[in-house]
Amino acid sequence: MSKKLLLKDAHVEGIRYFETYRKQGGYGAAEKALKMTAEEILEEVKASGLRGRGGAGFPTGMKWSFLAKPEGVPRHLVVNADESEPGTFKDRYLMEFLPHLLIEGMLISSFVLGSNVSYIYIRGEYSWIPDILEEAIEEAKAAGFLGKNILGTGFDCEIYVQRGGGAYICGEETALLESLEGKRGNPRLKPPFPAVKGLWERPTVVNNVESIAAIVPIIDITGAEYAKIGVGRSTGTKLISACGNINKPGVYEIDMTITVEEFIYSDEYCGGIPNGKKLKACIPGGSSVPIVPANLLLKTVNGEPRYMNYESLADGGFATGTMMGSGGFIVLDEDQCIVEHTMTLARFYNHESCGQCTPCREGTGWMYKILKKIEKGEGKMEDIDLLWDIQRKIEGNTICPLGDAAAWPVAAAIRHFRDEFEWHIKNPELSQTQNYGLANY
Ligand code: NAD
Ligand code: SF4
Repeated sequence: MSKKLLLKDAHVEGIRYFETYRKQGGYGAAEKALKMTAEEILEEVKASGLRGRGGAGFPTGMKWSFLAKPEGVPRHLVVNADESEPGTFKDRYLMEFLPHLLIEGMLISSFVLGSNVSYIYIRGEYSWIPDILEEAIEEAKAAGFLGKNILGTGFDCEIYVQRGGGAYICGEETALLESLEGKRGNPRLKPPFPAVKGLWERPTVVNNVESIAAIVPIIDITGAEYAKIGVGRSTGTKLISACGNINKPGVYEIDMTITVEEFIYSDEYCGGIPNGKKLKACIPGGSSVPIVPANLLLKTVNGEPRYMNYESLADGGFATGTMMGSGGFIVLDEDQCIVEHTMTLARFYNHESCGQCTPCREGTGWMYKILKKIEKGEGKMEDIDLLWDIQRKIEGNTICPLGDAAAWPVAAAIRHFRDEFEWHIKNPELSQTQNYGLANY
């Protein structure tokens, strides 16, 4: 069932501008929140069960409560808008069409966290969006929702937009902070977490765009009501950016009670697969999460339907399950070559590795080279085991999650589609001209 909290006004003409946003009830949540105490708002966010929408799914209320508050040290909210995960474009949609939803969410969040200077760090490739955000910030300021003594509360807040330089790694929160400080975006070792030592060593909360936008409906309807939407620990609504072999690519807001099958085939969402082709596999949470073959995607290991939520997608752990991740839903039909697809991802992670850790720097390069060889029909059977061995040596042995993100797609592809790798090796003459095909497995 479609439940709209974030996108309910997305199609209202002019919603990008303050006047229209305000007419639709915009900044009502901010007015309500600024009459509450920071502790009361934090309790609402905790009660909502909101989990970080950038990919990790860490409880937002808990993250906020970890923020250190040493006397006399400024604190910061930093919004991670460096949305670079392949297949993920839901934050772009929010910022482009509903910039005031983000600004309002930032105002409320900054008030709770005591951040008088907050930042939006946006990926360099979203070149047209900073102007939209900066215009919205100016409008909010002119209306008294940003700047000094907001709504007479004595609370001051400025928001600045910082453009990234186009590196995927700057979406990792500590690399982002390095970049925001004007340095090369190399991830830092954690702990200390940013909540203790973040921007300029000050306590910092880094949250995804969608997480901060969700604060507005949480305050509007209360945390308890928000928690009633969805199921289990998958509360509220989630934006999904759907792409690949589907009839209706786009950004959808779901309430996490629908099945994967409904999401792919219903006209309300993806509208099925073009030309009546069969579903081969799907990556449901952005390229970093494991690929799942159709049979395991439509049902769990217990034969239950698989749902579009954190728990159901992870059912069975990484052996058969995957993750909700960032909500970048990539659909592959029967014509897609898994080896080529895995090679493309390996090239991406190799290119984007910052090079600080040996397993990631060297391992991603090796995985790409071996996959390229197999895809060209020049591979040997032992290459599959070598690939498996390399990804095992990367996983869990690096500073930041890019290493895991590079290892998991390779592991999942071998685990679920090993016969397709073998077919490429056994049929070098067909390797580049034909696909292994659905009928073969
Ligand atoms: P993480 O699990 O390490 O951390 C999640 C958050 O919780 C972080 O903000 C971290 O600081 C905080 N946290 C965790 N433990 C804490 C503690 N003890 N004290 C204080 N704070 C604590 O994951 P991550 O590195 O933030 O994110 C990884 C995910 O990002 C991947 O799963 C992937 O899906 C996703 N991702 C998304 C994109 C995108 O474009 N949206 C791009 C790349 C990766
Ligand atoms: Fe850099 Fe890769 Fe190490 Fe992350 S895992 S710090 S991207 S080398």
